[in-house]
Amino acid sequence: MLEKEIQKAKAEGAEPFLVCATCGTTVLGAFDPLGAIADVCERHGLWLHVDAAWGGSALLSSKHRHLLAGIERAHSVTWNPHKMLTVGLQCSAFLLRDTSGLLQRCYGSGATYLFQRDKFYDMSYDTGDKTPQCGRRVDCLKLWLLWKATGTQGLARRVERAFACSRYLAEEVKRRDGFELVMEPEFINLCFWFVPPRLRGRESCPDYWPSLGKVAPAIKERMMRKGSMMVGYQPHGARVNFFRQIVTSPAVTRADLDFFLDEIERLGWDL
Ligand SMILES: *Cc1c(COP(=O)(O)O)cnc(C)c1O
Repeated sequence: MLEKEIQKAKAEGAEPFLVCATCGTTVLGAFDPLGAIADVCERHGLWLHVDAAWGGSALLSSKHRHLLAGIERAHSVTWNPHKMLTVGLQCSAFLLRDTSGLLQRCYGSGATYLFQRDKFYDMSYDTGDKTPQCGRRVDCLKLWLLWKATGTQGLARRVERAFACSRYLAEEVKRRDGFELVMEPEFINLCFWFVPPRLRGRESCPDYWPSLGKVAPAIKERMMRKGSMMVGYQPHGARVNFFRQIVTSPAVTRADLDFFLDEIERLGWDL
C-alpha cells in the first residue's frame, strides 16, 4: 500500500521525502511493520521517521521489544518516556541518526552571547544551540534520575508489569458478561465496551450501536460525580464510544484492577 501511495505521489509530480511509521498508536496501540516499511523507504531513498512516542518504551523489555523490530533502520525516532515509564511530564526524546550536524544547520542561531566558540572544551557538548527550544528545562534529567534509581532491570519490570496488567484486564473483560473487547490488545491499550443488560443480545437491532455509544459517556459522568474513578472514553473510526484503559503506574494492585471493572459494572448496570 505504501509502495502504491509513493508511486501515485510521484506520478502526480510530488517529491516525497519522508515516511512516518508508528509504534504504538495512541488509541488502539497498533504497531506498523517497520522492516517492510524500511525496505520501501530504502528503495525510494526516503527518510524513515518512527513515531514511537507511545510504544518506544517496549524496547526496554527483552520480552516485548520484538514489537519494534526494524526500528534500528529508522533515520529518526520520537519517544516519550513520560508515557509508559511515567517519567514526570514532560519528557520527550527526538533521536536522530545523523552525524552531519543537521540539527545545528536547522536550528543553530550561533548566538555568541550564549554559546561562546572559544571555550577550553569540545563545544559539541553545548547542545543548546541545536535544539528548537534553546533555553528550556532539562527534561532528560528526570529520565536519567529514574534510570539511576530503578536500573535498566527496573525499567524493564515497569514495562512488563504494564503488559501484565493489560493482559489481566483483557482476560477479565473476556470472562465477564457484558464486557466486549474492541480488539485483542497488541500493546497495553485496553479498549472495550460495557454493554448494560438492557442492550445485551440486541446487536442486530438498528438502535444498538447508537445506544451503546451513549453508555460510556453516561458511566463517565456518574464516576466523576461520585468521585470514584477517572477513565477516558472515545469513538474511533466507525466504532462508537468505548473505554480506553492503560495501566502504567507501578502502584496499581490487582485489587485496583478488579475495582475498575466492578465499578464500571455498578455504574452502568441500569443504563
Ligand atoms: C502521545 C503521542 C504523540 C504526541 O506526543 P507529544 O510529545 O505529546 O507531542 C505522538 N504520537 C503518538 C503515537 C502518541 O501516542
